[in-house]
Amino acid sequence: MVRLEVAIVGSGLSGLYCAKCLDDRLSVGLFYSRALVKEKPCGGLVSAEAAALLDAIDIPRDYFHSPAIAVAQIVESGGSRDCELRNVDRRALEAAIAGSLRRTLTVRVEGYRLSREGGAYLIECGGEEYSCAGLVVADGVNSRNRALLGYGPAGSIALEQSRYAGGAERCRLVRLDEVTPGYYYWIVPKGKAFIVGCRPADRARVYGDIAARFPETALGEPLGTERYPVTKLRELGELELGRDRHFLVGEAAGLAMPSSGEGITGALWSAKAAAEVLSSGAAEPNAEYAARLAPLVAAIAGDLGRLP
Ligand SMILES: Cc1cc2nc3c(=O)[nH]c(=O)nc-3n(C[C@H](O)[C@H](O)[C@H](O)COP(=O)(O)OP(=O)(O)OC[C@H]3O[C@@H](n4cnc5c(N)ncnc54)[C@H](O)[C@@H]3O)c2cc1C
Repeated sequence: MVRLEVAIVGSGLSGLYCAKCLDDRLSVGLFYSRALVKEKPCGGLVSAEAAALLDAIDIPRDYFHSPAIAVAQIVESGGSRDCELRNVDRRALEAAIAGSLRRTLTVRVEGYRLSREGGAYLIECGGEEYSCAGLVVADGVNSRNRALLGYGPAGSIALEQSRYAGGAERCRLVRLDEVTPGYYYWIVPKGKAFIVGCRPADRARVYGDIAARFPETALGEPLGTERYPVTKLRELGELELGRDRHFLVGEAAGLAMPSSGEGITGALWSAKAAAEVLSSGAAEPNAEYAARLAPLVAAIAGDLGRLP
């Protein structure tokens, strides 16, 4: 039996960031599943809050794409406005955080059993048993561990992203706001290429809109297309933060903006909050975790309320 103080299940952004923020003196296990990691695409647009959380940790800063700061044009029913977002390569970011972890035990899992016994969580995999007092559930959209812990599923939708040849000069970065019918789309310059992302169901409308609105953006044939779901809450009650010293973080909790799927801010914010309450030895860690997430939950509730 391997005894850990904290087990983190899932090594996407929230799991890695949580491992990074935990007190170095704690014994930490990071349980990862390689099968899904390489498939997951991301627009890589990062809010100012998320950028500040990334700046706060000590990792090499080579995860920015060119241009590092992109101007997003937010198109709303009443007009449009610009805002600045950081433009990151999420895979490079994850690799940078993973490469900087020192005292974290990493365990590859493809199948495992999760149970609770006498106040501790038990994870059985590969013939080994791990026991931990605190559990961080960070397995992303359609989290399997949510179900194992007795919670209902959070809603999700499919997204797709296509990559095209051509640098920043050939495209504008666009984000349609939540008030547009359906969902938004994005065109993001990524060095010598750019990506276009949207719901597969909106493809015809989106590509027609791009052709009409940005005639200079010649798309041509995609170099490749990736698909992946993103959390989209149907109601606030689907948000689950955990209890009994287990903490749902990132998309496993449902922490993504329902209008846009922007989930990096929620992943980092919740991961840091879980790490801090676990590191501080708080008497009521789950209550403190919920209190730290209250502003984020309020923002998600407001976003949900604006959706048609
Ligand atoms: C096409 C697309 C574009 C996006 N663009 C943006 C964007 O521009 N800006 C933004 O803010 N957000 C964006 N997002 C959302 C953002 O990528 C996620 O919200 C964020 O990565 C969530 O982090 P996470 O750690 O919760 O989940 P993930 O990053 O998905 O990590 C979950 C991890 O858990 C692992 N895992 C899954 N099941 C198990 C299991 N049973 N056991 C162990 N491990 C498991 C997975 O392999 C994965 O590594 C986008 C999402 C998609 C799909």
